[in-house]
Amino acid sequence: MAGPRAGVDYPRSDAELRSWFRTDADCLDYLQWLRWPQGFVCPRCEGAGGWSTSDGRFKCAQCGTRTSTTAGTLFDRRRTPLTVWFAACWMFAAQKDGVSALSLTRSLEIGSYQTAWAMLHRLRSVLVRPGRERLSGIVEVDETVMGGVEPGLTGGRSRGKKKSLVAVAVERKEPHGFGRCRMLPIPDASGDSLRAFLVDHVEEGSTVITDGWQAYQMATNGLYIHKRFVVPDNDAPTLLPGVHRVASLSKRWLLGTHQGAVEADHLAEYLNEFVFRFNRRKSRSRGLVFHRVLELAVAHDPVRYRDLVVNPKPKAKPPTPPLGRGHPPTMDRPPAGRPWRATRSA
Ligand SMILES: [Zn+2]
Repeated sequence: MAGPRAGVDYPRSDAELRSWFRTDADCLDYLQWLRWPQGFVCPRCEGAGGWSTSDGRFKCAQCGTRTSTTAGTLFDRRRTPLTVWFAACWMFAAQKDGVSALSLTRSLEIGSYQTAWAMLHRLRSVLVRPGRERLSGIVEVDETVMGGVEPGLTGGRSRGKKKSLVAVAVERKEPHGFGRCRMLPIPDASGDSLRAFLVDHVEEGSTVITDGWQAYQMATNGLYIHKRFVVPDNDAPTLLPGVHRVASLSKRWLLGTHQGAVEADHLAEYLNEFVFRFNRRKSRSRGLVFHRVLELAVAHDPVRYRDLVVNPKPKAKPPTPPLGRGHPPTMDRPPAGRPWRATRSA
């Protein structure tokens, strides 16, 4: 199969979204197909096969455990109706620039800003897939300062009040154009910090292009082919056009969609969202991105509210992939099995 199909496996338009997902049962049906594309797999014993119970759950044919479609997923025990989740996910994934918590509150008539804020943060939390591939080939790397503008403070390396230093890496394609990017707040522009960023985000053996900042020599030493260009600061855009583009697009997005109202503690998650969308900018359909986000959400563990609000630092260790889900979805591999519409009408 060639992958999920527009209008068959995912909605193509607002109108299609509304007509497909009128009730929570419609949404559950879709999540069920995403979670178990080849039929129910018991999360407890990993046995395949079972039957639906009258309360909308599944009973495992082998161990008898009852499981709801949303149990152990991002939607576990959420009070917000799934239809509202789907509409939020659509705005988050299918709109070109995503959506802010404020406009989500207004357009979906969600009771409180806090609820909308938490929904969007929960959706953000599923975007970084454990074990995702690192960038490779020719990669531009630089740092940029993000956050409030302070008069008199210029230059990329000084970290002022309410500002964050962000490392940016962008694949350069030959003969022209750019591939994927990664962004991450870093504590400083030291060799150690830059090396840690590189190791996590760029494959060893890649060619790393940087400006003349000397810490990059230590950061790349022994792992990467380092091309270092010493130029006056105002030539940086022509030297590193990829990172320049990504940095300015992301800043514009934070100021535009989010009106600059991004908490410094949560900058990393916002940047993940930006990167996720940037890396899918050539996706043939925005609806496909909606499909992927939901696919990741059903494979993701539940996220507690207190983990969202006291989440000042990125996790030291990457999360481990959830177990016992049968077929963990990935961003690269569309789910096998019958398309949803066919399953549904059968
Ligand atoms: Zn079982």
